[in-house]
Amino acid sequence: MDKQATLATRVKAGIAAHEVWMLDALKRLVEAKSFSGHEHAAQAVMRALLEELGFDVREIPVEPDKLKNHPLYSPVVHELHGCHNLLGRLRGTPDTGKSLMISGHVDVVPVGHVSLWSRAPFDTYILDGWFYGRGAGDMKGGLIAALTGLKALVDNGFKPMAPLWFNTVVEEECTGNGALATVEYLKAHDIRIDAMLDPEPFGENIMSGQVGTVWCQYHLTGRPAHAMEAHKGLNPIEAAMHIWRRLKEVEARWNPPHQTHAAFGDHPHPLNFNLGKIAGGEWASSVPTTCRVDFRFGIYPGVDPAAAKREVEAAIQAAVAELPEPPKCSITYEGFHAPGCVVDLDTEPMQLLKRCHEAVNGEVPDTYAVTGTTDVRLFQLGAGIPSTCYGPKAQRIHALDECVEIASLQRVAEVYALYIAEWCGVTHA
Ligand SMILES: [Zn+2]
Repeated sequence: MDKQATLATRVKAGIAAHEVWMLDALKRLVEAKSFSGHEHAAQAVMRALLEELGFDVREIPVEPDKLKNHPLYSPVVHELHGCHNLLGRLRGTPDTGKSLMISGHVDVVPVGHVSLWSRAPFDTYILDGWFYGRGAGDMKGGLIAALTGLKALVDNGFKPMAPLWFNTVVEEECTGNGALATVEYLKAHDIRIDAMLDPEPFGENIMSGQVGTVWCQYHLTGRPAHAMEAHKGLNPIEAAMHIWRRLKEVEARWNPPHQTHAAFGDHPHPLNFNLGKIAGGEWASSVPTTCRVDFRFGIYPGVDPAAAKREVEAAIQAAVAELPEPPKCSITYEGFHAPGCVVDLDTEPMQLLKRCHEAVNGEVPDTYAVTGTTDVRLFQLGAGIPSTCYGPKAQRIHALDECVEIASLQRVAEVYALYIAEWCGVTHA
């Protein structure tokens, strides 16, 4: 057997042998509940895992005050009291060679109504080869898969011959300011990263691009009245519904039947306007006082979020002006202010990823243009690092009964192990 075949065989066996370790690590990480802004418990689990695998770990504080003038900054949603990323470097790796960073987020999205889940969202369980729990798919499974791949290499005596970094960030699901803090840290400390992989759960496909995402809120103030004299009042919830219908017309305009953006060529509807939250009113017998609508819209790579915001604002103001009596309206932006980006799949790091997937799966990977956003934009647009996402198969992320496929975690672990070995080079003890 040649050297590569030996390494691949040993890695595959190592990953199979580490199944219990992998599932136990994933259980600990998922059960460390970590909504955006409250990631401490999950970061503590990650720190222990990274140190177990031989990383020197430092903390990168995520401080909005220091980031807020950066063009890729997104206005904060949560108070970040002492939230931090973890940046680990594998001990003993030389300063020379091609460096690699694996980066992912530890925050998870809200669970919605717990009673609709088959079991409690943070009580993990395994059923028919799938591992369940909020965050198991998005994206704690991917983080653990990448670590398992590295563990299989290291435990077999293979040692990376270039800097290997593992970064876990906070605040991915609503702003991306966690990844932005790491990007700024890398620059300030002159740390060069030659490729970055993010194990987001995109079904073992290589991400070819992503849309931009903006979070927006409109706030309406009406005039309360007794319901028996509703004509004397001004109903802000009804006004909000009218505005939303007009915004859906903007969405339709932005997604023409034969849209032509190269990266999203075969996608029927890449740019979604999602009404995510509505709050207003007091009770059934009063015309309400206020209404607040939180929504999210997508934009194509190359579109300036600021220009898209202006178009959306104009649509909201025009809709308000159409009303017989316009309510008081203000518009705010909390959360994502994220441009889209496209991944150049012809570059060396992406070609290698393709080959590693092929070596493990016996077929070329599909590519996937994502109609949401990921941290890749910060690394690519903020630091010029060739970056993409490659991670396991998951189901119902951001929904109920989220889960990740265990066999997929193992294949992804194998791909990461081969990737590290090829990209960084390895010596064998
Ligand atoms: Zn994610």
